[in-house]
Amino acid sequence: MLVDSHCHLDHAKIGISPQEAVRRARLAGVERIVTICTRLDRFETIKAIADPFDDVFMGVGVHPHEAGDAGINAPDPLLALAEDPKMVGVGETGLDYYYDFAPKAAQRRSFEAHIPAARALDMPLIIHTRDADEDTIAILREHWQDGPFAILIHCFTGGQALADAVVEMEGFLSLSGITTFKSAEALRQVLDSVPDERLLVETDAPFLAPTPHRGKPNEPAFVAHTAAFWAERKGLSVGEFHARIGANFFRLFKRVPVPAPSQVKL
Ligand SMILES: [Zn+2]
Ligand SMILES: [Zn+2]
Repeated sequence: MLVDSHCHLDHAKIGISPQEAVRRARLAGVERIVTICTRLDRFETIKAIADPFDDVFMGVGVHPHEAGDAGINAPDPLLALAEDPKMVGVGETGLDYYYDFAPKAAQRRSFEAHIPAARALDMPLIIHTRDADEDTIAILREHWQDGPFAILIHCFTGGQALADAVVEMEGFLSLSGITTFKSAEALRQVLDSVPDERLLVETDAPFLAPTPHRGKPNEPAFVAHTAAFWAERKGLSVGEFHARIGANFFRLFKRVPVPAPSQVKL
C-alpha cells in the first residue's frame, strides 16, 4: 500500500485544489494521505479539507516556525482536539535551527509540550528537525525516560547519530523527495543503515518534489516516485516496497483504519 504520510494540502504553493490533489493521488495508487496542521488556530481549516475524504487524515501540532506566537506550553489543547477522529498524529512539532523563524527557547518549549500528548494519545509524534540533531536527540531521550512514545522524524535530513537514536527508541524515519536528489548520497547512506521496518515515505507537498519533478510544486501523487526510487535502491519490487512501507504506516498511525483490498475510489 502506498501512502503519503506527510503533506500540506492547504498550502497555496501546491497550486491545485485539495480535491484535485486527492484525485490525482488516488490515480497514482496513493491510498492514505496525512495532511498536516501547523498551528492550532488552523485546525478547522485543515479539518474542512480532510473531512470529505475517507482516505485523508490530519496531523495536528504547532510547527517550529510558528512556535514564537502560536507555540504551546502544555499538551492540553492537543488532547482536546484529538477527540476528532480525523486527528491521527501529534505534530508537526520540533526544532528548526536552519531558518530560525522562532526563538530556540520557544521552539523547545512547544516541542516538549507535544510529547506528553503523543504518549497519552498513543499517536505518533511527528517531528520536524533541521540543523538541530543534538537538541532533538537530547529532548527525545530525556522524555523517553518518563515512558515511551512513538517517534516519527518527517522528511529526515539528519545525521547518523539522530538516525541511530531514533532506531534505538523504536521510532520511524520518513523518506522525502530530497532523498532522490543526486546531491543527497550522504543522506542516502545514513538511511541505508535504517532497517526497512523503520521507514515511511512522504512528499511534504508542496515542497521538495522528488526527481523527476524537482523544482516544481509537489503533490501527494509524487510519493510514488520516491517509493520507486527506494524500491530500486533496495532491490525490491515496487509492490514489495509499498507493502513494507504500508505495514509500517499502519503500525505507527494506529488510528487510521486499514482499508479493505479493493476500497480505493478513483
Ligand atoms: Zn516539516
Ligand atoms: Zn510539513
